[in-house]
Amino acid sequence: MDGPFEVIVIGGGHAGAEAAWAAARMGVPTALVSFQREAIGRMSCNPAIGGIGKGQIVREIDALGGLMGVATDEAGIQFRVLNRRKGPAVWAPRAQCDRALYARAVRERLERTANLAILEGSVDELIVESGSPHRIRGVRLSDGRELRCTAVIVTTGTFLRALMHCGEQQTAGGRIGEPAANGLSDCLARLGLELGRLKTGTPPRVHRDSVDYARLAVQPGDDPPAPFSFLTDGIDQRQVSCWITYTHPATHELIRRNLHRAPMYSGQIRSRGPRYCPSIEDKVVRFADKERHQVFLEPEGYDSERIYCNGISTSLPPDVQDAMVHAIAGLERATIVQWGYAVEYDFVPPHQITATLETKGVSGLFLAGQINGTSGYEEAAGQGIVAGLNAARRVQGREPVTLGRDGSYIGVMIDDLVTKGVDEPYRMFTSRAEYRLLLRSDNADERLTPLGWEVGLVDEARWARFGRKRAIADAFGAYLSSRRSGDGALAAELCDPDREPMDHPRVREWLRDVASTVDDGNGDAEHAGVVREAVIAAVHQAKYAGYVRRQERQIDRFRRLESQRIPPGFEFASVPHLRYEAREKLAAVAPRSIGQALRISGISPADVTIILIHLERQRRQRTEMHRGLDAVG
Ligand SMILES: Cc1cc2nc3c(=O)[nH]c(=O)nc-3n(C[C@H](O)[C@H](O)[C@H](O)COP(=O)(O)OP(=O)(O)OC[C@H]3O[C@@H](n4cnc5c(N)ncnc54)[C@H](O)[C@@H]3O)c2cc1C
Repeated sequence: MDGPFEVIVIGGGHAGAEAAWAAARMGVPTALVSFQREAIGRMSCNPAIGGIGKGQIVREIDALGGLMGVATDEAGIQFRVLNRRKGPAVWAPRAQCDRALYARAVRERLERTANLAILEGSVDELIVESGSPHRIRGVRLSDGRELRCTAVIVTTGTFLRALMHCGEQQTAGGRIGEPAANGLSDCLARLGLELGRLKTGTPPRVHRDSVDYARLAVQPGDDPPAPFSFLTDGIDQRQVSCWITYTHPATHELIRRNLHRAPMYSGQIRSRGPRYCPSIEDKVVRFADKERHQVFLEPEGYDSERIYCNGISTSLPPDVQDAMVHAIAGLERATIVQWGYAVEYDFVPPHQITATLETKGVSGLFLAGQINGTSGYEEAAGQGIVAGLNAARRVQGREPVTLGRDGSYIGVMIDDLVTKGVDEPYRMFTSRAEYRLLLRSDNADERLTPLGWEVGLVDEARWARFGRKRAIADAFGAYLSSRRSGDGALAAELCDPDREPMDHPRVREWLRDVASTVDDGNGDAEHAGVVREAVIAAVHQAKYAGYVRRQERQIDRFRRLESQRIPPGFEFASVPHLRYEAREKLAAVAPRSIGQALRISGISPADVTIILIHLERQRRQRTEMHRGLDAVG
């Protein structure tokens, strides 16, 4: 495709890939502009996808018709379901991937997508028509090229005015060996967007042949590995193990002695990093009484020489990193092939976007991913798909789509971003969702595939497969409830983390009995994948039926609050008796509903009551005015 384009996506990371994929699949001429084609889909840190809270997001992206789940299934070298010992509502799939295979899986899918052009280049400026609000018209590249369009999605990750730190050494760049994006940061600021600054970091990598594996505990993956995508029937590629080791009091002592050389402690880095994902220097200071910290040694791929040392993210200088690594069991003679480092970058505090991820100040300008203050591939990808589909709908002249807190983790994340803002990089946890029994990884397709189909993201094949799964799940659910007193016990047995549900004799017996109704005649591996997903979904639904009903009642109450709309442009400053601080916060976020106003941190139920009284008074005044006009007329 040579253009003209309607949607331009800047950045080919995880947000950008999903955004471009979504917009193009919806039939809108789209360009993805990124520094290097080769770096599309690249994982900056550990090549691992999923985990607690994040795995559910990947299932949701997949259910909507996105890329991340299928790419992970193609590139995964170790799959594990985390939280197995807890209830299935919080089971979370995670996969260690082959870094190169993952990026290739993403890039090749994008290259084969109709309506999508991939262009190499650096976007330095946005072309904007001034007005109220301003309107996006295109982008300008550093080589002078200009591309016109109706919507732009900025997904520049950790690259805006990025500065990397490794000890005292500072280098401009968003990721090792890649440049920073300075022009775009300046341009966003000129457009009136407020910018903030955050930090993240990565650990050293060691050469795989230099590790003493005999001293390590092995961590195998699940057997059989469970795929991420609702489209995948099984993982056929070879699976590998990871290893576990620990830091030593000597490691901690060494770090303590060198804290004055750590950019986080010397004052060289001033911005906030993720509290929940601390560097090893932070761990040693904050958890001073701990004698050791776990370190996972994770291969970066089948052919890669690199082992990722998960748990010792650091920006200490190389000589300290060297000594620190060698003080860890199994790494005494390790060769370090990449030093750990930290990166500081600009982000756009997300009170400046709406739940469609469009900026409030520039019509047609969308932001997704790390630029909105999040951290993580999955969080970025989840926003990417929402921004892509909304940019495409704007071009198509259709109503925007937003995801609610009651229907997805992606909805929870976006609502948190736009109502609460961020003061440290935001990552997903299951505890952020109030309806986690409903937002399970097994039912992501029930929650989102119909929406994906309606907007044109889900294709015929996925839709047909979803229909088959739903029919089988209904049939198995009916079987479970027909067993009356026995169903709860059987459901509990089928949730046993140590047992593959499909091997349970009752499931096998049921499948034999009803084969004629659920078998589509193929009897092949594809069918096996659908049946497995369906059985698991039905079992989890049965297990939580009572709680689910209770949560659905809570959701009804929640929806009533959400349906009490606050009109656009509502002047919070003119509401009598509203606290000054509340006025400021409400004006900054501009909530669209009473429910959203209630979730803004620092806004109390009393503030909301005052707004409700004011809205009611305004409504009465309008009604009386209309009556008066009618009487005059
Ligand atoms: C050192 C480091 C450590 C990290 N550690 C962790 C961690 O421990 N845990 C975690 O969850 N996450 C971590 N991350 C964050 C994770 O990499 C990001 O959350 C995720 O990649 C964000 O995805 P994104 O799509 O928003 O941006 P990115 O993946 O950063 O992609 C941005 C893309 O935009 C392109 N680009 C940027 N500017 C321009 C421009 N002007 N013109 C054209 N192209 C442009 C870049 O080339 C890149 O392809 C780390 C990141 C880094 C760099």
